[in-house]
Amino acid sequence: MISDIQSEILKLKKEKGVTIFAHTYQSHDITEIADVVGDSFLLSRKAAEDKNPVAVVCGVHFMAETVKMLSPEKKVILANGSAGCPMAEQFTADEILAMKKQYDDCAVVSYINTTAEIKTVSDVCVTSSSALEICKKIDKKNILFIPDCNLGGYVSKNIPDKNFILINGGCPVHSAIEEKEVITAKKLHPNALFLVHPECKPEVVKYADYIGSTSGIIDFAKKSDKKEFIIGTENSVLAHLQFECPDKTFYPLSKNLICPDMKATTIIDLLNAVKGTGGTEITLSPDVMQKAVICINEMLRLEK
Ligand code: SF4
Repeated sequence: MISDIQSEILKLKKEKGVTIFAHTYQSHDITEIADVVGDSFLLSRKAAEDKNPVAVVCGVHFMAETVKMLSPEKKVILANGSAGCPMAEQFTADEILAMKKQYDDCAVVSYINTTAEIKTVSDVCVTSSSALEICKKIDKKNILFIPDCNLGGYVSKNIPDKNFILINGGCPVHSAIEEKEVITAKKLHPNALFLVHPECKPEVVKYADYIGSTSGIIDFAKKSDKKEFIIGTENSVLAHLQFECPDKTFYPLSKNLICPDMKATTIIDLLNAVKGTGGTEITLSPDVMQKAVICINEMLRLEK
């Protein structure tokens, strides 16, 4: 049944000039037939290089917005329009501007997991893999890092000569993990390396053998000559790793590391979006698009 739906999607996407972009946290039946699978920024970059006129995004709202910003000429459809990211939507642009006013010489650094509206008031965007390097290169002394205080705290510890202003935002899925869950997992699997996302709290991250983005965790586990790993990020990463590395064993840090928004998209949503009868088309005003893309271009410049 699932394979029939997958075949139908593959046929339709060719006929209709659709490219499917799926975040790594999507379920396996979706990632198996997606053209591009990766973190939010990889999806946007690949969409900008892609020649097809339609991009169907399996992920959450801010990801489809970022694809639209980098490929304004494309029709961009979010396969399940109700899939948002609670962290991306935690603050408004006005709240960020009010905070910025309190500091002189302040750069607003926003995690890519933010809305287009927040990006319009940001100086530079970062991903979890580029945050450290980009913040080191920013000239200004004061950095208002939004919205994830865990990622911001991790970066600030590694750049002690800058003054980081953090706000009380973050990913509700990663930040819900408690220290005692790491202690339990390490006791149960004493030979396993612990790989963790910096969106987790510092009392969790301090036990890590490796701290990095989703793609960083995947690369590390694939290249490592060790055989057992505790995965401290969304549990679909563990499932993908187990599929790709059958000779290794992956344990979840917690059964609660599941993002309901990332799991909202089903293979039927994808089918309907590719068919043109479902999903939500992403539209952004020219003004928002023009302003929001500035911080993404700045990220690209500083990444070089
Ligand atoms: S895992 Fe966290 S940051 Fe990612 S989409 Fe879900 S709520 Fe947002």
